Amino acid sequence: MERPAYRARVERILEHSADTRSLFLRTVTGRMPFYSPGMFISVKIPLPEELRIRPYTIATSPEDGEPFELIFNLVPNGRGAAWMFERKVGDLLDFTGPFGAFTLERAPDRETVFIAEGTAVAPIRPMLRRALSQPCSHSVHFIYAAAKPERLLYRAEFESLAVTNSRFRFEPLIVQGKELYESLSDEVARRWVHGDGERRRDFFLCGIGSGVLKLRDLLRGAGYERRAIHYERW
Ligand SMILES: Cc1cc2nc3c(=O)[nH]c(=O)nc-3n(C[C@H](O)[C@H](O)[C@H](O)COP(=O)(O)OP(=O)(O)OC[C@H]3O[C@@H](n4cnc5c(N)ncnc54)[C@H](O)[C@@H]3O)c2cc1C
Repeated sequence: MERPAYRARVERILEHSADTRSLFLRTVTGRMPFYSPGMFISVKIPLPEELRIRPYTIATSPEDGEPFELIFNLVPNGRGAAWMFERKVGDLLDFTGPFGAFTLERAPDRETVFIAEGTAVAPIRPMLRRALSQPCSHSVHFIYAAAKPERLLYRAEFESLAVTNSRFRFEPLIVQGKELYESLSDEVARRWVHGDGERRRDFFLCGIGSGVLKLRDLLRGAGYERRAIHYERW
């Protein structure tokens, strides 16, 4: 069955750095359907020789309404990402969705750890907002890794959330001279594998490549339930 398609106009562009930006989109045909924090849309990218379809996560919260935000970065030889980067204010963009099972609907009922790198903060940002918007007594950690400080997006927003929510711990991790996922794995092992014997925690992991799967396997191997480890690999 053909999925309903939507068309949106680029209302605003936010340049985070030379290779990372956000598009703020407002639907012009159809109305953006209900979505859960963490969901993505499938964007149609008309390249000269193919119609490419790539998922991009909605980085704003459902309650923010429109325009909604997509954050993305240039990828080596990534022609889809390059097309996204060429969009200008007023351009139209077609998509289907929202889709996805990497979501968080309500405040977790136990300690929760979010882990992301760079633009893969996109699903984590609305999830964190949702987790912290509802009363709960459990701690919420966010380890946000990048190779350079300027690749940590929305840092001030997370720092301010940590000031107003005593149960939220925001921990930026700048990794220089070492593989990013090696550092993340060391950090996760130190705290949540060897740090104690507690295994009742939820994890939400989002990042690029096989490092995400290694983190997942580290936690599974340490005795956490499979369903407690939510992950999305880009
Ligand atoms: C569920 C889901 C949600 C996604 N949401 C976003 C999003 O919100 N923002 C975003 O920038 N990308 C997101 N992506 C990745 C995005 O869909 C594209 O894969 C990316 O833009 C590259 O597409 P391309 O056609 O340019 O490159 P391709 O030729 O398809 O190259 C893909 C290669 O680039 C790697 N890659 C994918 N994303 C990145 C990245 N951000 N940085 C570096 N390498 C990458 C892949 O692992 C793969 O090796 C998401 C992917 C998935 C599966």
